[in-house]
Amino acid sequence: MHHFEYRNGKLFAEEVNVSELAKQYGTPAYIYSAATFRRHFQAFDSAFSDLDHLTCFSVKANSNLSVLKMLAEQGAGMDVVSGGELFRALKAGVAADKIVYSGVGKRAAEIKQALEAGILMFNVESIAELHKINDVAEEMGKIAKISIRINPDVDPQTHPYISTGMKKNKFGLDIEHSLEAYKLAAKLSHIEPIGMDCHIGSQLTSISPFLEALEKLLKFYERLKEINISIQYLDLGGGLGISYEEEEPPHPSEFGKALAEKLAGVPLKVILEPGRVIAGNAGIMVTEVIYTKSNPTKNFLIVDAGMNDLIRPSLYGSYHRIGEVEKNERETKEYDIVGPICESGDFLARERDLPEVHDGELLAVFSAGAYGFTMASNYNSRPRACELIVDGETILVARKRESYEDLVANEL
Ligand SMILES: *Cc1c(COP(=O)(O)O)cnc(C)c1O
Repeated sequence: MHHFEYRNGKLFAEEVNVSELAKQYGTPAYIYSAATFRRHFQAFDSAFSDLDHLTCFSVKANSNLSVLKMLAEQGAGMDVVSGGELFRALKAGVAADKIVYSGVGKRAAEIKQALEAGILMFNVESIAELHKINDVAEEMGKIAKISIRINPDVDPQTHPYISTGMKKNKFGLDIEHSLEAYKLAAKLSHIEPIGMDCHIGSQLTSISPFLEALEKLLKFYERLKEINISIQYLDLGGGLGISYEEEEPPHPSEFGKALAEKLAGVPLKVILEPGRVIAGNAGIMVTEVIYTKSNPTKNFLIVDAGMNDLIRPSLYGSYHRIGEVEKNERETKEYDIVGPICESGDFLARERDLPEVHDGELLAVFSAGAYGFTMASNYNSRPRACELIVDGETILVARKRESYEDLVANEL
């Protein structure tokens, strides 16, 4: 459920006409719906209301400060994977004790930054990292609270680039090494193990891999108790999928219900790290058709947004629904919708049927609120797009379009 809909053939973001937004702020532009963000967060969070839990939004899905602030106001904690994301979360007003820090490559300076802030816990991904955190904490005279990211070796049945919980992935520690890590953690002077963590992948469209992982973690929890390590938190990561095309992912309430059953009587506080399911369908990207071009085998729509603006189609072969901002009655044609970047992999969609489109017309790329702007780059020296938040009739420029001067601001 989202708040981008057609009214008399014209696309609206909440109460605002998208084509007027594009006229005023230019293209390409990311447009987010505040009501959708709030609604998705509340729907997700309340799905786990039978459990003692904390919902930590995954900052890498959409890290715009205004978005984070909006979610923090709804009670969200945050899951961060870098010092930069931690900086953003704190700046957006998120309480440090609602922040968890994941990622395989935390540097000493980032660990220090997190200890200074007083985050809830580090999700530790290697033995070497555990030692590093202990060293930094010792230097600072602090105790670092940690969980070990356990790789439960389950197949999330998603794209290989976004599956993270299998043996071949770089993330976390396998079960046996995890046990060793907890034993070590219990011995280290400036480490306190307080949780277990896993995150098995992204865009999951079934809850069974989550439950399979949960089962393995609960067995592991028993082994921890046997060696007198008592923890309070169970972090199950993110990964719940959304509908880009025809996927029918489970509603969070289905996941919540299943968790509540499996965790009845288990004295652990659950942490969830949703990203895509909150942000994905809360944003669109609007782009203008610059040229049309045909050859004997293809019709191309050359648009002003490229893989530097939205890389998911190029990187993962992802599907994004694309529609006209103003509907027309023309006959359908098959198009490759491509950007201006000098790469053959620069496309938003291939072999897509659309009513015939003319240059100067606008297209909306749907489901672009997660891993859209956050993955944008300046490749081909293209200034990054603006980010707008629509809230009812109100428009907030959450990030202004970059200028050419911005492109070279840090260069000699
Ligand atoms: C990316 C990530 C998430 C969020 O994943 P979604 O699929 O967007 O829900 C959560 N936790 C960790 C550790 C991540 O790396």
